[in-house]
Amino acid sequence: MYGAIEAGGTKFVCGVGTGPGDLQTATIPTAAPEETVAAAVGFFRDAGIHVRAVGIGSFGPVDLDRDSPAFGRITSTPKPGWRNFDIAGAVAGAMGVPVGFDTDVNAAVLGETRWGAAAGLSDALYLTVGTGIGGGAIVNGSVLHGLVHPEMGHIRIPHNLDEDPFPGCCPFHGDCLEGLASGPAMEARWGVDAGRLPDGHEAWILEARYLALGLASWVCTLSPKRIILGGGVMSRSFLFPMIRENLAGLLAGYIGARELTEGLDDYVVAPKLGGRAGVAGCLVLAGEALHRSRSPAACGVAR
Ligand code: ZN
Repeated sequence: MYGAIEAGGTKFVCGVGTGPGDLQTATIPTAAPEETVAAAVGFFRDAGIHVRAVGIGSFGPVDLDRDSPAFGRITSTPKPGWRNFDIAGAVAGAMGVPVGFDTDVNAAVLGETRWGAAAGLSDALYLTVGTGIGGGAIVNGSVLHGLVHPEMGHIRIPHNLDEDPFPGCCPFHGDCLEGLASGPAMEARWGVDAGRLPDGHEAWILEARYLALGLASWVCTLSPKRIILGGGVMSRSFLFPMIRENLAGLLAGYIGARELTEGLDDYVVAPKLGGRAGVAGCLVLAGEALHRSRSPAACGVAR
């Protein structure tokens, strides 16, 4: 059995299990860091099951560089109390088992490639569209980290101010993708919670185009074999055909792969694990951490 912590800005989803089939979860509101970690550790203790490792998929930005002194920390978040908090160290110290650590969206793409909509694929993209926009990617079979980790929600997309005068709501960039197309951006632009906008509202035409512009960039750069769209905004399933149609128009037939021509219905899809992709992916992170801790190269603190 492994432990899983999907650490979000408003809630922690904790789980124990070996996969989605036996995964038992509980939700803890995100309070002060020490208090929240103590509640998560309490969940594992109360479950009465010895977990051999714990995987954490965290909100960010986070430090994923195992050679960095700040590894395992949430870094520059504006969330009070959490800036520079060593979440992986706190959990490892309290649980005494190896801890795997990655972003929440990388955990989600791991869950979906192990058990879900991208099972068996070497390259996949998971994008969540909700209170923020974030993406995780598997490229050539490995989770994409790079210099830090991708911040896909903050890419710049064309923004026609005559058509959409809303300046965007990202505190760093204004009209980046997240600033234009997240749930809070929709609410700020239209004056109503995105969940209450009716299906036929013009808001969705703009939303589908903005998200497709993001997807077109990642199709051309990461070349994923499937794209999975999750998060609260994407619970409006009518968005999927709208996004596919926009994406096809933007790519204009240039990339000849069947997936991007007649196969788009199977290319841009919803998460098969639904809202549990992230917490399930944390089980994958836990398994990897256990494996690393047993490898000859491991020494000292198991990371
Ligand atoms: Zn931004």
